[in-house]
Amino acid sequence: MSNKKKNVLSCLQPTGDMHLGNYLGAVQNWVNLQEDYNCTYGVVDYHAMTMPYKAKNLRENTWNMALQLLACGINSENLFIQSLVPEHAELYWILGNVCSFGRLNLMTQFKDKSEQLKDKDKEAFVSAGLFNYPVLQAADILIYHADFVPIGKDQTQHLELSRDIAQRFNHQFGKEYFAHPEPLYTKNMKILSLANPLKKMSKSLGEKHYVNIFGDEARIRKQVKSAVTDTGEATEGMSPGVQNLFDLLEASGRMEAHASLMDDYRDSNLKYSDLKGEVAEGLVGLCRPIRERYEEINSNKKNFKNKIKESSAEIRKDAKKTLKEVKELVGILNPKD
Ligand code: AMP
Repeated sequence: MSNKKKNVLSCLQPTGDMHLGNYLGAVQNWVNLQEDYNCTYGVVDYHAMTMPYKAKNLRENTWNMALQLLACGINSENLFIQSLVPEHAELYWILGNVCSFGRLNLMTQFKDKSEQLKDKDKEAFVSAGLFNYPVLQAADILIYHADFVPIGKDQTQHLELSRDIAQRFNHQFGKEYFAHPEPLYTKNMKILSLANPLKKMSKSLGEKHYVNIFGDEARIRKQVKSAVTDTGEATEGMSPGVQNLFDLLEASGRMEAHASLMDDYRDSNLKYSDLKGEVAEGLVGLCRPIRERYEEINSNKKNFKNKIKESSAEIRKDAKKTLKEVKELVGILNPKD
């Protein structure tokens, strides 16, 4: 068996400050994977253009997200910014020609996101970029010959599309060139909104729905204190709001408090104020070192930005190599041809 570490690839959109759902559902896992895999992580600013956005904020959001990933424990040499590796966009164009319109038309995320836009405004502009987004995602993955992509169940369909694109490409150009990336399903936490635990924590729901892990501690405590425990919906067993608080307690590592409060729950003796108190302390403790590291990074921002530019340039070498080989296979000119 080869000892060579397998390649892992994952990306995050620069949507402003990272929230607790991003951290516990994705980034914490990315940090741990760095031990066993050869990891490449991207801040994908081209993807952020597919939904309405403000050009004046995008560049700053991109840097912030990259610096926040460093604060969370991502190694700078594993991190790149998508627009600093423009080969992604070029490969995207090539792959668009080995992906059928009908196949892309089946993507449920396009339907969800375009409906989300139309719900807000009937006349909303839905771009071809949003429709083509999964092809750019396939380029992000295939350009590094990723073996594994850590994903949540909601991304399964997109990864299958990447595999199909790889397969069709290999078939059409007569070479087993692209590997078929596999999903890496790790413990997949789904963090719910504290204000509406019937919904996933998300920035698009509005400020009170998400916990900013870089926000101040008083705000985190206040949000937990006013977390909704009972949504009025009939549920079997534990209500989603209470379950979410227990999940957060577990994620923050306060296992003794978790066990003892779980006993209270089983004995129908649970005081929500006790649970919330523990969760608040747990989250404040979880976020504090990350926030402090971020403050440190921010005070030396230029230096860390340079590090990310350097790692992007280094990672770009792999992307360039793939693109050169792809162009040879598909009959497109390389500069020296
Ligand atoms: P998004 O910014 O919504 O595209 O999410 C980026 C990453 O964070 C994806 O891998 C999501 O699966 C993860 N994520 C986002 N929100 C949550 C949540 N509420 N619970 C768990 N994971 C989440």
